[in-house]
Amino acid sequence: MKKTLSVVVSCYNEELALDRFYEETASILKKLSWKYELIFVNDGSQDQTLSVLTRLSQSDERVKVISFSRNFGHEAAMIAGLDYSQGDGIVCMDADLQHPPEYLPEIVKKLEEGFDVINMVRTRNESAGWFKNIASSAFYRLINVLSDVKFEPNASDFFAVSGKAAKVLKDNYREKVRFLRGYVQNIGYPRTTIEYEARTRVAGESKYSIKKLIAFSVNTIMCFSNLPLKLGIYAGCGAGILGIIMMIYTIWSWARVGTPSGYATIIVLMCFMFAVLFLIVGIIGNYIAILFAELKDRPIYIVEETKNIH
Ligand code: UDP
Ligand code: MG
Repeated sequence: MKKTLSVVVSCYNEELALDRFYEETASILKKLSWKYELIFVNDGSQDQTLSVLTRLSQSDERVKVISFSRNFGHEAAMIAGLDYSQGDGIVCMDADLQHPPEYLPEIVKKLEEGFDVINMVRTRNESAGWFKNIASSAFYRLINVLSDVKFEPNASDFFAVSGKAAKVLKDNYREKVRFLRGYVQNIGYPRTTIEYEARTRVAGESKYSIKKLIAFSVNTIMCFSNLPLKLGIYAGCGAGILGIIMMIYTIWSWARVGTPSGYATIIVLMCFMFAVLFLIVGIIGNYIAILFAELKDRPIYIVEETKNIH
């Protein structure tokens, strides 16, 4: 029997890009030896995304639509797509054609060879700009230092998993604060990478602001590493050593000049100590926020309507 490839596409205000995405992707999918389903997840778009998707789903049975009740974020959209997918292989892609669909045949080939996880690694990302590129490589370097889990640098939200790997993701990785790319790289199973050149966005604009990216990076580091939590111990040791040095200096200057060093030293030390203290309290606070989110166990996404899903 023919195998099926599920292509999951998260869409947030992508009305301008979708028609081109569909045309280009479907024409490539049709040539594959596998059957396919195109699962579009409408992540609470405010523009005409849903009506474009509805139109596509009416003319093509293989186009499936899951529409969220509000914006839940790119990660939630990818998870929903995985949940609804029925294929023997699942590919996650962006709707803006930055992830070139011409790599799909190569992905299918790797799946046929028996790989369960296929990481698509960016060699060049022209449209992101130098800041995003530098920030991204710094982020991967930092998380690889902090976490036991090793991340593929320049891995993107463009990846493919086998049905077997998808089942693990669906059943066992239901965290609320999450980093899907991280899980994908760490479920084990035979794994491979394909290099690709990111294209520029076909239409519309990037939905990831710098602020969103920073929040995302902080949460990811905390989800995959407990090291920041232990910062208090190191800071305590550092402050203790500093205290001893100050004590020796004070006694020494008292013995020499007859007066202990004064006001300025106290202010400097206090500012420093409080800065360290607040930083650590903040870090602990963030971990508690993550714990709280998991404890509340709210849904990762809420589906309002679906098309062509039976
Ligand atoms: N996206 C989403 N929900 C969001 C933000 C983005 O589903 O809240 C989708 C978006 O439609 C696109 C993909 O995630 O298909 C990647 O977003 P974008 O292209 O804006 O990010 P960039 O490529 O600039 O990092
Ligand atoms: Mg993009």
